[in-house]
Amino acid sequence: MSVHVIGAGLAGLAAACQLTELGHHVVLFEAAPQAGGRARSYFDKQLGCRIDNGNHMLLSGNISALSYLHRIGARRSLIGPAEPIFPFRDTTTGEAWTLRLNQGGFPWWIFSPSRRVPGTRLYQYLSLLKLRRATKADNVASLLGNSGQLYHRLLKPLAISALNTMPEHAAAQPLGSVLAETIERGGYATLPRWAKLGLSETFIDPALEWLRERGADIRFGERVTQLQPGQATVVAVPPWVARELIPGLTVPTEFESICNLHFRAQMDPGEAGFWGLTGGLSEWVFARRDVISVTISAANRYMNMDQETIAARVWDELARTFELDRAVPPNRVLWEKRATILASAEQLALRPGTRTANPSVVLAGDWTDTGLPATIEGAIRSGNAAAMALVNPL
Ligand SMILES: Cc1cc2nc3c(=O)[nH]c(=O)nc-3n(C[C@H](O)[C@H](O)[C@H](O)COP(=O)(O)OP(=O)(O)OC[C@H]3O[C@@H](n4cnc5c(N)ncnc54)[C@H](O)[C@@H]3O)c2cc1C
Repeated sequence: MSVHVIGAGLAGLAAACQLTELGHHVVLFEAAPQAGGRARSYFDKQLGCRIDNGNHMLLSGNISALSYLHRIGARRSLIGPAEPIFPFRDTTTGEAWTLRLNQGGFPWWIFSPSRRVPGTRLYQYLSLLKLRRATKADNVASLLGNSGQLYHRLLKPLAISALNTMPEHAAAQPLGSVLAETIERGGYATLPRWAKLGLSETFIDPALEWLRERGADIRFGERVTQLQPGQATVVAVPPWVARELIPGLTVPTEFESICNLHFRAQMDPGEAGFWGLTGGLSEWVFARRDVISVTISAANRYMNMDQETIAARVWDELARTFELDRAVPPNRVLWEKRATILASAEQLALRPGTRTANPSVVLAGDWTDTGLPATIEGAIRSGNAAAMALVNPL
């Protein structure tokens, strides 16, 4: 069968690979001059180096993402610490601590005060079990917000980065799904991982090469404006485009932004290569070769700050916390305005499933009803599901 895949983000690429593997001929249409969508690298003239549109972290329990990388031969292009460790610094007090999970399935690290979040009690970790019983209406803050330091120093930062939504508005269920596939399975499923060279080098370019080698027809700069009747098609575009292509489709309509700041500077990568930050604007910092990159999720709350101000404030936090030179180095501030859908209960209820009313058209994208937050894992899983739905009509 010949299949049209519309959109060469991770969902479209995963669908294209899955269909190609199953012996189908794929024509991949991408509106932009390059693939990758919201996960891509580019050469930044101002900084004089290649950067990613934003820091992307995976956990080793993201099995669909890892299988995708294995398929395209890029599994080894991820890096991260050998142990499941998460170093944190508080940018206001300077306090430093490291969450040290153990590799195996039984979480004995919880019993060791030096491995868990300082100031937390063993019983507070039991609050995580509440996520298993979370209803669709529960939000993260109301379910977990009474667990003291554990909430403020771990669960809140975790929820903001995993759901890209402030905990007061974020549905608890998808956070439960993430934890069930990672921390609850043990440290071996919670190893932090990210692209060694860049997002495109890991997730995108090897997939394009893999597809081309197997005869796929990849067309950049081709914006699809209508579907061809009767043509088997995977629609893997953002929700607002999907609604134009499929009139009457219900899709999420509210979004959250992510702000990434790239500073042309160096710092000691420490034990893990990254830190979680609390007490300020900065949330995660990655020490790359000659670029220090900072992520601020659920960044709609800072939309009225201009780029210079945010760069100065973030650098001030880094310089104080890590004893770096106070002068703000050359930098690039990147706002992805519609980085992900808002993970509120109301918006998640608008996520459509894989199949549409038309049996020859299926949907893929991190915004579809994967049960996961809008992440790489969700996008790839949705692409695989779309491919399987197309070849297995009801
Ligand atoms: C700054 C940032 C940081 C993030 N951090 C993380 C992280 O740490 N961990 C994680 O797991 N996830 C993270 N994410 C989320 C992750 O990037 C997304 O979940 C994933 O990339 C979504 O892929 P997708 O294929 O669903 O959508 P997209 O990447 O949006 O792909 C859709 C594609 O469709 C194309 N298209 C649109 N209209 C048309 C048309 N008419 N015809 C043809 N093509 C069209 C677009 O150009 C695009 O390439 C982050 C996202 C951002 C923006």
